[in-house]
Amino acid sequence: MTIYNDQISQYTTNLFAIHDKGLQRAWDETPRKGLPAISIKPEEGRFLQFLTRACGAKKALEIGTLGGYSGIWIARGLVPGGKLITLELESRHAEIAREHFEFAGVGESIEIRLGDAHHALEQLSSEAPFDFVFIDAEKTGYPKYLAWALEHTRVGGIIAAHNAYRKGSVAGLAEPDAYTETMREFNISIATNPRLMSTIYPAGDGTLVSVKVA
Ligand code: SAH
Ligand code: MG
Repeated sequence: MTIYNDQISQYTTNLFAIHDKGLQRAWDETPRKGLPAISIKPEEGRFLQFLTRACGAKKALEIGTLGGYSGIWIARGLVPGGKLITLELESRHAEIAREHFEFAGVGESIEIRLGDAHHALEQLSSEAPFDFVFIDAEKTGYPKYLAWALEHTRVGGIIAAHNAYRKGSVAGLAEPDAYTETMREFNISIATNPRLMSTIYPAGDGTLVSVKVA
């Protein structure tokens, strides 16, 4: 019997993912300022923070900033003196995220790079290797983001990618949408990659998580 559901999720959240003022502000203000309500959930944020610290991350990378909610969690998992670089295409998203980072007290440890992540990554190669990479931008870009992350994350580092379940559609739990097949293929590519040891963390929309083993 699997008992995981919204009530269990709330129980976990109440124990481990309570918002302080900084997280609450990013959570409330992102949709209120007209950005899409697609931030990760509190439980998922706590998990990213946990992973960041579990691999002792000093250099972390996020692809897809939005209002900065996930970035705050990741930044708070970094070892002291660590830094998060987060990539965002939309200048308005980046501006709002910057405000949220400052308010949450993590402004010093986060750099937002504005522009298409595919271009930004070319320049970021010289700043590799990263300890932790979180992929959460356009789904069609995932295969390229993963290929980059594989080459630019250290062995023992962690690569995570959001929306593994695509609202349950990958498993037939919801009607397929335009990206269901993209995510199915992406999930298979992670599951079968011999350089990664992976699984899916099932809270929220599912986070693929991989340790780079080779
Ligand atoms: N990680 C965020 C949510 C990200 S939503 C959180 O959980 O809080 C996805 C974001 O990726 C959006 O802000 C979108 O503008 C951005 N994005 C989409 N395509 C992109 C690209 N090619 N390069 C950089 N950012 C992109
Ligand atoms: Mg997402």
